[in-house]
Amino acid sequence: MTPFESVNTFFDRGAQLIHLKDEMYDVLKTSYREVQVQVPVRMDNGSLHVYTGYRIQHNGARGPYKGGIRYHPQADLDEVRALASLMTWKTALVDIPFGGAKGGITVDISNMSPHEIEVMTRRFTNAIGHVLGPARDIPAPDLNTNAQVMAWVMDAYSASHGYTPQSVTGKPLELGGAPGREAATGRGVVYVLEGAAKHWDVDLQACRVAIQGFGNVGSWVARGLDELGVKVVAVSDVKGGVYCANGLDVSRLVRLGDSRRSVIETDGVDHISNEELLECDCDVLIPAALGDVITADNAEKIRADIVIEAANHPTTTEADAMLRDTGKRVIPDLLANAGGVTGSYFEWTQNIQQFKWKEERFNEELRDIMMRALDSTLFFAESRDVPMRDAAFAIGIERVARASKLRGYV
Ligand code: NAD
Repeated sequence: MTPFESVNTFFDRGAQLIHLKDEMYDVLKTSYREVQVQVPVRMDNGSLHVYTGYRIQHNGARGPYKGGIRYHPQADLDEVRALASLMTWKTALVDIPFGGAKGGITVDISNMSPHEIEVMTRRFTNAIGHVLGPARDIPAPDLNTNAQVMAWVMDAYSASHGYTPQSVTGKPLELGGAPGREAATGRGVVYVLEGAAKHWDVDLQACRVAIQGFGNVGSWVARGLDELGVKVVAVSDVKGGVYCANGLDVSRLVRLGDSRRSVIETDGVDHISNEELLECDCDVLIPAALGDVITADNAEKIRADIVIEAANHPTTTEADAMLRDTGKRVIPDLLANAGGVTGSYFEWTQNIQQFKWKEERFNEELRDIMMRALDSTLFFAESRDVPMRDAAFAIGIERVARASKLRGYV
């Protein structure tokens, strides 16, 4: 099953719960606009590489399209399409006025220079610029893109539209970035985990947590948990993982990450593979890297009781059913990682008003929105006796279907 088919399987389950009309399925299961572009880049050694880039706008009934841009060898049309549709349901679930989009370039940036990445980013932005804009489609960071990349996107867009910081979120603070945005996805994961643990009467302080991925999301999740005094026993990045039953030294790992070194350079700990991390002895598992990592091959070996999906689409449909059958509690990506786009919403509104909140206010408002979404997801799931994923999809789909109907899309 491809990523898009897989997301649509989850969609069908949510749609059935709200008795979605047949004609709505055709509108909501396909993207509104799909742009594929050629991105030629003159490399530092003089050679020319031609990459393929995508911007997929899935549904814009509730507001401008919104979603990240990822640079990854597996970022193809189908994956980006799947991620764009997830954004539609996610922005609706947390009830912020955006539609869903995603962008990406099929590229391995690990051996590219900053100059080559900048040239590629500017060419890509120019190629998709006609479908972007603060009231049209607003990109943000995702896998292998960061505040610097967003600064280049903003600059390329502003070159033809005038100074437009509200055209992209996740920017550096000096260019209108919001204090709190960088940490927002990770903090949102921690807020949701705290709230869910309280609801289920689980003592989070006594839990041991494993995190796959130590980039923007994973490292901020680790920091947030560390602040709460929760033990992080395993983390990993693309090079491998580390495990320590007594808890890892998170600030040391963060320092390694800040100096662009791998977590595997930590000493005095056990070294494990990314596969072993998913199956390690822990209570809470947090995938925070790639999609499709929990599969039919490893779902039964997962020992954690709670899986909270910080990454987008980390669980295949088969694995999702297996986790359910073995009584695991799965907090779905739609809810768990929605702090990122919620933080982007705060940044966008502040840019429009040319006003800046303090980080305390940012975090307070973020917590409020995440708690409201958690409460409505738990209420739906428990009152209908369905998994949280189905509940999250159902709530999101219902809101988008209503807006699509009111706007006359069908
Ligand atoms: P990032 O590029 O900052 O970090 C990715 C991390 O994953 C790095 O530590 C990298 O080494 C690791 N990684 C890469 N390939 C791996 C592999 N094969 N096995 C194990 N680890 C691997 O990206 P990010 O922004 O932290 O995004 C991580 C996930 O969170 C993605 O699924 C993304 O879609 C999702 N997400 C991100 C945001 C955001 O605001 N950045 C918001 C919502 C969801």
